[in-house]
Amino acid sequence: MKEKKLIKMAGKLSDPYRVISGSKFRLKDVDPGDTLWLKSKDKDRAKEGLQTGVEELARLQDRLYAQDRWSVLLIFQAMDAAGKDGAIKHVMSGVNPQGCQVFSFKAPSSEDLDHDYLWRCMKRLPERGRIGIFNRSYYEETLVVRVHPELLAKQKIPAKLVNKQIWKQRFEDIRNVERYLTRNGVVVLKFFLHVSKEEQKKRFLDRLDRPEKNWKFSGADAAEREHWNAYMKAYEEMVRHTATAEAPWYVVPADNKWFTRLVVASAVIKTLDSLDLHYPVVSEAKMQELAVAREKLAGPGKGM
Ligand code: ATP
Ligand code: MG
Repeated sequence: MKEKKLIKMAGKLSDPYRVISGSKFRLKDVDPGDTLWLKSKDKDRAKEGLQTGVEELARLQDRLYAQDRWSVLLIFQAMDAAGKDGAIKHVMSGVNPQGCQVFSFKAPSSEDLDHDYLWRCMKRLPERGRIGIFNRSYYEETLVVRVHPELLAKQKIPAKLVNKQIWKQRFEDIRNVERYLTRNGVVVLKFFLHVSKEEQKKRFLDRLDRPEKNWKFSGADAAEREHWNAYMKAYEEMVRHTATAEAPWYVVPADNKWFTRLVVASAVIKTLDSLDLHYPVVSEAKMQELAVAREKLAGPGKGM
């Protein structure tokens, strides 16, 4: 596929799920089973498309790295078994590991809890020229912590600062931090992989049935299903308050893994393409240096 056509296709696949202004967003408007115009019989073709996308991504990332100006932060949030790990693995499979960093944020350590909640994530921001991936992130502070108030109580925040306004304040602070980052050349893209409760159940049962998947299952994950509605409300609120033009959310249907990966790859490609990445222009002095080196290497008997 020609490059221009590919970029156009990437837009067609990812634009429908891009949220840049949250106030009208309703989670019920996104069907987790949606696959746009693609049917399950197109699955193999979609996988080929993903492969082409992965190659394009590698090409773009090579320039991002060489140019060494922008950095890209990809944030993944989802309920368990929505396919974060698989999406990260497949979409980034062609990317040079030197230019990519993945961090997973689990329950905070006691050292983390001795700081403000952004601290542990800010330490892991990608360097210029690199793609950084957050597998979960500071957004958990408005999700699991909101659904389980006892976690907030453990955060050692001075009592008088913990009040009804806290979620509104967190959204505001997150918006401001992301704006700060984007103004410094960090491109922020956020993915919420939206799986249905029924599909999650199927995937949990699969994890129980297949010995090689047993390690992925934890009783706690199943227990969280009891809070499904509270989580959905928290996710909706999160998108409504933190989707901005500079740091958009992609709310990606996640009941079909092949489709989820295609959308995520498309969003990253589309965004990288918009940065106008190019290899650094070689200076006149450097050109001369190269010419001398070529002459030396090619000269009779002198080269190695
Ligand atoms: P997998 O898909 O393999 O299960 P995972 O991302 O769910 O991967 P887990 O080891 O299951 O990883 O644990 C992550 C857990 O940490 C989640 O339950 C998440 O809610 C929790 N967590 C993440 N950030 C915070 C936070 N700031 N406060 C409290 N809990 C958090
Ligand atoms: Mg888990």
